[in-house]
Amino acid sequence: MTVRNELLKSIRQAEPYVPGEQPRHKVVKLNTNENPYPPSPRVAEALRNADADALRLYPDPEASALTEALAEYYGVEKDQVFVGVGSDDVISLCFLTFFNSEKPILFPDITYSFYKVWAQLYRIPYECPKLDEDFRIVREDYYRENGGIIFPNPNAPTAVYEELDFVEDILEHNRDSIVIVDEAYIDFAGRSAMELIGKYDNLIVVQTFSKSRSMAGMRIGYAVSNPELIRCLSNVKYSFNSYTMNQPALLCGAAAVKDEEYFKEKIRMIVKTREWAKDELGRLGFVFPEPKANFIFARHPKCDAQKLFEELKAHNIYVRHWNTERIRDHLRITIGTKEEMAALFDFLKKAL
Ligand code: PMP
Repeated sequence: MTVRNELLKSIRQAEPYVPGEQPRHKVVKLNTNENPYPPSPRVAEALRNADADALRLYPDPEASALTEALAEYYGVEKDQVFVGVGSDDVISLCFLTFFNSEKPILFPDITYSFYKVWAQLYRIPYECPKLDEDFRIVREDYYRENGGIIFPNPNAPTAVYEELDFVEDILEHNRDSIVIVDEAYIDFAGRSAMELIGKYDNLIVVQTFSKSRSMAGMRIGYAVSNPELIRCLSNVKYSFNSYTMNQPALLCGAAAVKDEEYFKEKIRMIVKTREWAKDELGRLGFVFPEPKANFIFARHPKCDAQKLFEELKAHNIYVRHWNTERIRDHLRITIGTKEEMAALFDFLKKAL
């Protein structure tokens, strides 16, 4: 049956975000920036100890076990932390809560493609200043009137990291706008804007358990800011769904935060593999901006990226490719284990 136009015209028609593929068969999976290592053993232990009977009850709407663990970890107050179902959930709620102006919000032309989807879904006007030729954000583009600002640091899919003085400059020039720094990949990069939270009342820092904490499947993200902005965010959440975080996720998340040693060790391993991967890709003739995330955004001057993407896929090596303006000659390659990267390089050596 086809739905009549009279019905269709008042229905919200969203253009959805397209996530990377999750193939069901075994592949070398370097396409969605997941962590190649398992989460902390304490997460498995928390799952084993989880009380199925307790699922009878609704979870704590304040998600206290997790917000308290995060507050302690970052040395902030509990009322400065907001948790959600992955940072996608957190950022989406931030868009709804903080971007309510007639003026356009600003985010880079090449960035996390979900920002545009949320802006369109919530009918928030937006503008996308162009990254420069080296895929750097041009700070002066953000010195104009706006309804808010969001950018990832490191940026995705470029993996380019900007130092804190850059973030601070954007904050200084936008005292009357909310600035959201999406730090999904910060643990592989450098200093976090968390340390600026006490200094700027317009700053929100968002992070996730999906990358550095190996818990993409659990769906945990969080925002840290001042208590007033966190209260605004919570009030919007409570106007939607009081219980976004399920009980096992709260327990597993808190367990993960408490195992700092494991966390740091796995990050070290990924960064080490990334540095090796940079050398290997360079030797093969790839060029890329300095990567500071758990992925590399690479281009081969003599090779069609779409073709290479398809050939890799045919050989069960999955990377990410976008057939869009300015980046269709690039591949985004997630850093896997050393063995997975070796499989990629073996293939590339033959294919090129
Ligand atoms: N921000 C950026 C820049 C990302 O690349 C991702 C991962 N797709 C996210 C946020 C969302 O991650 P998650 O919802 O798994 O926390």
